[in-house]
Amino acid sequence: MPRPRSPKEGPWMVERLEHISDVRRRVAEARARGLRVGLVPTMGALHRGHASLIRAARAETGLVVVSIFVNPTQFGPGEDLAKYPRPIANDMDIAGRAGADVVFNPAAEEMYPAGFATTVHVAGLTEKMCGASRPGHFDGVCTVVAKLLDIVRPDAAYFGEKDAQQLAVVRRMAADLDLGVEIRGCPLVRDDDGLALSSRNEYLSVEERREALALSTTLGQARQAILGGDRDAVALADRLRQQLAAAPGVKLEYVAVVDPDTLADLATIGDRVLVAVAARVGSTRLIDNVVVRNVG
Ligand code: AMP
Repeated sequence: MPRPRSPKEGPWMVERLEHISDVRRRVAEARARGLRVGLVPTMGALHRGHASLIRAARAETGLVVVSIFVNPTQFGPGEDLAKYPRPIANDMDIAGRAGADVVFNPAAEEMYPAGFATTVHVAGLTEKMCGASRPGHFDGVCTVVAKLLDIVRPDAAYFGEKDAQQLAVVRRMAADLDLGVEIRGCPLVRDDDGLALSSRNEYLSVEERREALALSTTLGQARQAILGGDRDAVALADRLRQQLAAAPGVKLEYVAVVDPDTLADLATIGDRVLVAVAARVGSTRLIDNVVVRNVG
């Protein structure tokens, strides 16, 4: 059966590969045909946020590889590694509809065989915000992303602004290690009620979900304040902290008002600003942010 030429024409035929050697072979075939290659790294439980990354890759590259790997090294002790959702059949469907050619879905032993001993560590950027409460998390992220980039050797790799710190860290790593890949940041996708889409949202009860809306509501107000001329980053951060600390059901972890690339704390809001928050609602850890550009 011929492959549909565009996702609009129907589900894309997706191939599920579990071995590094098979992915390398598939990429080499595409390269021999002169195709550009795109990579979308994910942990699965795909939603419209992931689909937007896959569509961006589809628009820019001729072979779209989506990795689905719940990476054990980025989870800390007591985190949700065991219960993280793994609905692979549904994921294949979503990946296909969004335009993926290949889903790379390795076992943990394929990525971390016995004797594995290497860690990629990006200093500085990883120590604050999510890094402060999740020690080792970004080492796990960087190590697996470095491996995936080496396995696929894509022209471009697609990451969501949902994980704004991760995006900054991966950009730093790719530049520092001369990985020769374009790192593309894609806009955060929200549900109709404003909640940032996340695979972890399915842990939330109906009431917790309602309480979680305080994050996006507060960030929306921050955006309006910045667009309205608010330039005092410290006062803004303090105000957001107070607001979220008072929100029912929300256990605030941090509010950061920082430069989106360096993650340096801002005193005065300049041209571009990232306002990021992390909080627990019930036992679920959620992150959300807004990036405001061309503030000037
Ligand atoms: P995850 O599966 O949560 O590791 O996410 C895989 C990729 O999808 C990361 O680059 C995320 O930033 C991105 N992503 C997750 N949720 C969203 C969202 N709501 N909007 C945009 N990108 C997202």
